[in-house]
Amino acid sequence: MDYRSTRGEFRCDCLDAVLRGIAPDGGLLVSDSDLSKGFDWKSAIGKSTLQMAQMILSHLLPDFDDMGGLVDRAYKNKFETEDLTPVVKVGDKYVLELFRGPTSAFKDVALSMLPQLMLAAKKQTGDENETVILTATSGDTGKAAMEGFHDVPGTRIIVFYPDGGVSPIQRAQMATQEGANVKVCAVKGNFDDCQTAVKKAFSKINSMEELSKAKKALSSANSINIGRLAPQVVYYFKAYSDLVAQSRIKVGDKIDFVVPSGNFGDILAGYFAKLMGLPVRNLVCASNENKVLTDFINTGVYDKRRPFYRTSSPSMDILVSSNLERLLFLASGCNPQVVSKWMSDLSSEGIFTVDEQYMKTIRETFRSYSCTEKETIETIGSVYRKDGYLCDPHTAVGMKVADDYRKEMEDDVPVVVLSTASPYKFPTPVSEAIGLPLDGDEFAQIKAINAKTGVPVPGNLSSLESKKPVHNDVIDREDILKYVMNVLGI
Ligand SMILES: *Cc1c(COP(=O)(O)O)cnc(C)c1O
Repeated sequence: MDYRSTRGEFRCDCLDAVLRGIAPDGGLLVSDSDLSKGFDWKSAIGKSTLQMAQMILSHLLPDFDDMGGLVDRAYKNKFETEDLTPVVKVGDKYVLELFRGPTSAFKDVALSMLPQLMLAAKKQTGDENETVILTATSGDTGKAAMEGFHDVPGTRIIVFYPDGGVSPIQRAQMATQEGANVKVCAVKGNFDDCQTAVKKAFSKINSMEELSKAKKALSSANSINIGRLAPQVVYYFKAYSDLVAQSRIKVGDKIDFVVPSGNFGDILAGYFAKLMGLPVRNLVCASNENKVLTDFINTGVYDKRRPFYRTSSPSMDILVSSNLERLLFLASGCNPQVVSKWMSDLSSEGIFTVDEQYMKTIRETFRSYSCTEKETIETIGSVYRKDGYLCDPHTAVGMKVADDYRKEMEDDVPVVVLSTASPYKFPTPVSEAIGLPLDGDEFAQIKAINAKTGVPVPGNLSSLESKKPVHNDVIDREDILKYVMNVLGI
């Protein structure tokens, strides 16, 4: 299966796609083959989660020699439950819990697998460079990436986060990260400053001769890499398989998924599952107050020229949603010219408009609704009181949107809401929602939530308070380049 650029004629195999991350023309790498060809989805849903992962990943990334071994090394004994992503019935919906991994973030599902894929791709292509992952994070990606890459031979990871711009829990998670190949550094300024400076340093160092002389190559762990997207396809099959096992549906019945969305990677993986044959009716994109995706799906106009809101679901506070480009490419009938035009309109004007003919294809599967900040907090409270289930603010956005969606559909097709974070990662809004006083720090809030609800605190979070921070560097953003060169010894 070939991967090709969304913006031009560049093509490569999947090993190269994982190592590159992005196409040389700036496009994203995506397969234009018929994904259902040669894939027996019915046999996939009869398997255990790890076997299912092996089957699905071997189909999407066929050039890897030992996918079974890679899947085992990525996931075995690393998640709270053997089935990785359990499905729980909550009221009239199903919740697919994606946060049972080593850092209690849904990004663990993909970032546990990515290092294995990169390592294997290097080995198979004879690439002997040390892979250096350079990442700017607003909180969750950095920690999950370090957890995936720490002590993986032949790799090194450097994470930058905005000083004061992440939650105390997220800061503690990163500052206490162990591993000889890991470096974490706070940067003065906000996330955008930090990300822009890291991107600049990335391209500068990438063009330095000293880098290749030192046998090192830079890479990134963000969600445009196909090696991060492919592992996310698996849990859509897993959820379907669970509903069949519980006799809620028969094999072949359609179901709907509601996905709290930011960069559009999670929901796009659901689209791949549908293209592979899984009986999915609608994929419902849930937005918070930064509802650029909801407006796009409902109007065909993508307009990022709008106020940016800080919400209690920060991983969805995104106005440029990078993975949408892959959907646009597929909906346009794989036409790199129109995609390039839309993307250049977006970067020069901040807006692009997609023709009705393509929007029709998109709306055959995608629906979208948004949820306000007030509704988010109310939903955490009402779901807890009515159904005894404690959800985090991102999941709450999905739960509220699922209610709006069901009201409109008026049928009983099962709805699965993807749950993307543990409520204990966002103790302040959760405390507020369930009527706990907001005194004390986040660690005190975690204890109070646990005392009131009895929901177990994930081990990786409860042990944080007593761990000693080992990463205390804080730098100006002008010094990122020097910092990286110093770490790399070039
Ligand atoms: C990253 C993230 C999302 C958004 O996922 P996308 O793939 O970027 O759409 C939602 N919730 C949480 C908690 C996340 O970390």
